[in-house]
Amino acid sequence: MAKLLMLTLIGLTGISIGLGADSWSYCSNCADGPLRWTGDCASGKSQSPIDITSTNATYKSFSAWNLQNYGKTLSADFTQMNTGSALKVSIPENMFFVNGGGLDGNYTTAQFHLHWGPSNKKGSEHYLDGQQFSAEIHFVSYNVKYPNLTYAATKSDGLAVLGVFLEVGSANPAYDKFLNYASKVVNKSATVHVPAFPFSPLFPSNTSKFYRYQGSLTTPGCYESVTWTVFHDVVEISSSQVSAMRRLMMNGTDYIGENYRPTQDLHTRTVYASFDVPAATQTPTVDGPVDSAVGVKMSTGLLLLMLFGALFFY
Ligand SMILES: [Zn+2]
Repeated sequence: MAKLLMLTLIGLTGISIGLGADSWSYCSNCADGPLRWTGDCASGKSQSPIDITSTNATYKSFSAWNLQNYGKTLSADFTQMNTGSALKVSIPENMFFVNGGGLDGNYTTAQFHLHWGPSNKKGSEHYLDGQQFSAEIHFVSYNVKYPNLTYAATKSDGLAVLGVFLEVGSANPAYDKFLNYASKVVNKSATVHVPAFPFSPLFPSNTSKFYRYQGSLTTPGCYESVTWTVFHDVVEISSSQVSAMRRLMMNGTDYIGENYRPTQDLHTRTVYASFDVPAATQTPTVDGPVDSAVGVKMSTGLLLLMLFGALFFY
């Protein structure tokens, strides 16, 4: 029972869910480090995070976002926890919803958590054009057609995660709504209740510019169940705000120094951009075959037109 409870707790850690979660770490040279993670983590071809190359992204028009209740302060408490591998804020389900933005279905937000590093130049899981940011926040929502997060996390259309790059700069008061409580969860498994607050101010002001791809959980078992959205615009938080995260302990002696997984191969996946980045470089390789097909159709059409034109003329 204790083991089951432990797995359940681990299951709600970050977006890691159970399997293979008995022992893993972010320690790059350790036997349980990211390079030795097993299962889908090792064999999957749609793994996350990735380095997003903006000029290789394929432009796609997406429907408008509906981040339902993200701008509201609802009457509820959130639960903030030091999971031993991240700072996580659990959210009562069926209060906040994510749909639109090209997502297929409706997703209820269950938690958000953060990834950071030992210095301001490291910390985000995704990279953008080879650049890593100071931190990254992940809003995890699951498809309402599934009963819960754990179940949905094993389904290919189970999860929608919204990622925002955080860079050290000006202080962001919206982040104090939970970071002010970080000192209460310095120790692993510590929890604290946090009054509800709106999520919208945690996002960039322009949420229409984003990257979209199919990927995975970034912790074991690395299930390939995530429709990823990574916003293009970066949000600033202050050095002392990041420091509040860096003070969290992994165990009795070590800090959670860096809790990001190395970037993974894209393999055959396409990364889409909701905007033209930059227009001049949008046409190459990825769109090639489609363009050729259209080209053939147009030539055929032109030929028929000429034929009809000739018949009519005569
Ligand atoms: Zn994450």
